[in-house]
Amino acid sequence: MAIVKTHGPITGEQIADKLNLSRAALRPDLAILTMSGLLGARPRVGYYLTGKEPSDIIAGVLGTIRVAEILSQPIAVREKCSVYDAIVTMFVEDVGTIVVVSEGGFLEGVASRKDMLKAALGGKNINKLPISVAMTRMPNIIVTYPEESALRAAQKLLSHQVDALPVVNSVVADGSEKLQVIGRFTKTNITRLFVQLAGK
Ligand code: ADP
Repeated sequence: MAIVKTHGPITGEQIADKLNLSRAALRPDLAILTMSGLLGARPRVGYYLTGKEPSDIIAGVLGTIRVAEILSQPIAVREKCSVYDAIVTMFVEDVGTIVVVSEGGFLEGVASRKDMLKAALGGKNINKLPISVAMTRMPNIIVTYPEESALRAAQKLLSHQVDALPVVNSVVADGSEKLQVIGRFTKTNITRLFVQLAGK
């Protein structure tokens, strides 16, 4: 990149000369840099800087990956579920956030680990206490949509300081707009994407 910045446009042959490498040895590096959009290549002219920053490229990639491609299955309980059973579900399903839905899978609320801890510390019988008293409820739930970009959903996780977002489709049911839960988008999905993009 430094050589192209100073000497561009410059041919692959000339770059290889400056690095004391063969043109063949340099080919994979040049391929990565042109595919990623950092370098442009024109026949008989050579390589030049496109002006794109590495951060533009990352934003470009994350901006094109949709939530639908990387979401997890939703783990849901009904509103009448006890806090005790919700905690058991959390352990069995190995998740940190549970969505609470009405009949038909419509979003009613979200219960996090700390919501359940708080309910358990409250001294009430958590076998009798419904999860609906411990959860954060609609309309205060931050959601994402299958067609939303992974970048936008990750920004929502950060700006609202939550671990998970229900992935929903907006539907009209019984004459009103409701959010049907179809997935779960968490910090783990972002971490997995991060590792996948690095090709590991
Ligand atoms: P924890 O409380 O276990 O650290 P979170 O940071 O995800 O987990 O949750 C913090 C608070 O935000 C909890 O009270 C939880 O009910 C609420 N919460 C979690 N996810 C969401 C969401 N997607 N939208 C709105 N509130 C949420």
